Amino acid sequence: MIYKAVEEMVGDTPLMQLKISAPKGSHIFAKLEMFNPGGSIKDRLGKYMLHQAQTEGLVKEGTTIIEPTAGNTGIGIALAAGQLGLKSILVVPEKFSQEKQTLMQALGAQLVHTPSEKGIVGAIEKARELAAEIQNSYVPMQFDNLDNPDAYYHSIAPEIEHEMQTNNISIDGFVAGVGSGGTFVGMARYFKEHVSQIKTAVVEPEGSILNGGTEHSHRIEGIGVEFVPPFLERKNVDRIYTISDDAAFSLVKQMAQEEGLMIGSSSGAALAASLKLAEELKPNSNIVTVFPDSSERYLSQNIYS
Ligand code: PMP
Repeated sequence: MIYKAVEEMVGDTPLMQLKISAPKGSHIFAKLEMFNPGGSIKDRLGKYMLHQAQTEGLVKEGTTIIEPTAGNTGIGIALAAGQLGLKSILVVPEKFSQEKQTLMQALGAQLVHTPSEKGIVGAIEKARELAAEIQNSYVPMQFDNLDNPDAYYHSIAPEIEHEMQTNNISIDGFVAGVGSGGTFVGMARYFKEHVSQIKTAVVEPEGSILNGGTEHSHRIEGIGVEFVPPFLERKNVDRIYTISDDAAFSLVKQMAQEEGLMIGSSSGAALAASLKLAEELKPNSNIVTVFPDSSERYLSQNIYS
């Protein structure tokens, strides 16, 4: 296969059965999303949201795309917008990874910073302000755009189902982190519709509010919420696991040394939660999870020390 454009390489990432021994003889399968061209699961989102917006006539020649983002969505949008010949302005709270910000700029996006202490809510407000000022602009707004969960419903979930079916392996559990909530909501809906008896689990860092905890900062990057995502469908959430920074980072190190996988901290948290879900499911269960990005974009934060 010879590819003619980078967006053709989005998706169809490897699904790997991990060597790590899970409780009760269960197995963990991780979808390795760092193999997307922009290095994260959010390439799927950038491609899908801009494609849908184009189809609906919301994006035309000369439209400026504006989006609040923690980083990976910004890279996915910058990549997709660049390929469509569109400008993008990404509104990023200062605290997020420098590497991601450099990559957004490399792909041609303009960055606007908002104060770290105002969190993602501050970035959302600023993006809305900019959209009101800039003519012919469009804000995909991942936090309430239903195309966000749909992007995963239509891509990564059926890919996993097909890969597991082809190998004659049942899917008993599914775990994913929640940032905007798109990944979990889209995939959980697909699995609940297509895989009988599946148990689904959300993973969040300590400092996120889904399990009733109070909001505070955490080192795990990309997941955790300051507000409940509007499209979170509680009926599709069987468990919520709240994971400490230490538990996630310890698995990040273990994955590099034992499996040669360089994963980001939200992947470490997803793995920690998958191991917890294995304790609750029947013996020899198969749990699928998502590793959204690579540790390479967090090296300046000493992810391995
Ligand atoms: N992990 C990482 C590294 C991310 O950047 C994101 C997106 N913020 C997520 C997980 C969570 O994905 P979602 O926004 O679909 O909930």
